[in-house]
Amino acid sequence: MNIIFLGPPGAGKGTQAQIVCHRLGIVQISTGDMLRAAIAAKTETGLKAKTFMDAGQLVPDDVVIDIVRERVTAKDCENGFILDGFPRTVEQARALDGIAAIDAVINLDVADEALVSRLSGRRVCPVCGAPYHVDRLGGETRCSVDGTPLIQRDDDKPETVRNRLTVYHQKTAPLIDYYQGKGTLRAIDGSVGPEAVSEAILRALEANR
Ligand code: AMP
Repeated sequence: MNIIFLGPPGAGKGTQAQIVCHRLGIVQISTGDMLRAAIAAKTETGLKAKTFMDAGQLVPDDVVIDIVRERVTAKDCENGFILDGFPRTVEQARALDGIAAIDAVINLDVADEALVSRLSGRRVCPVCGAPYHVDRLGGETRCSVDGTPLIQRDDDKPETVRNRLTVYHQKTAPLIDYYQGKGTLRAIDGSVGPEAVSEAILRALEANR
């Protein structure tokens, strides 16, 4: 199954993609994680992407489309994948139509006010990418998976968070109509607890088979 996780930043796409991939035996493809890895490795793509990401802007379409085109054709994607954070523009969605067949699009719906608090309280493991929230860490400062000290992403700082939400409404929200028109969109309430969201996603995917 090839699936897209759509939704604003902080809606839980990464957390849910991890859970659902594990349950379905498919791979998670996060363009954000791939771009952060490219920045850390100081590749040409990373250098191009960094200024956009630091400002909470989208990286140019051609850069991310090339990354995804190469990634989805890898052998480990044969059983299926979840695209987490791609496409983010209508241009990217059109390009994806020519790259892979998509079975379902899960739209995680969360109100803006909740997103600001989720994003500004988010901490992540810089090694494995596992996400946490300060309210649920109870003073813990390390990743429960590999013990690495957790960090706050530069683009989770308040001024950048607001930019990212504006960019989402302008550029990414139109994809809801795009996929509704194709009949592949499944709307999920992302404001409830993570377990309830995973169950709702799995039920929607099951109904889709
Ligand atoms: P994420 O980890 O998905 O929140 O992505 C972090 C940042 O990476 C975004 O704010 C963008 O700057 C960049 N990014 C990730 N995916 C895309 C995409 N599909 N198109 C453009 N920029 C992207």
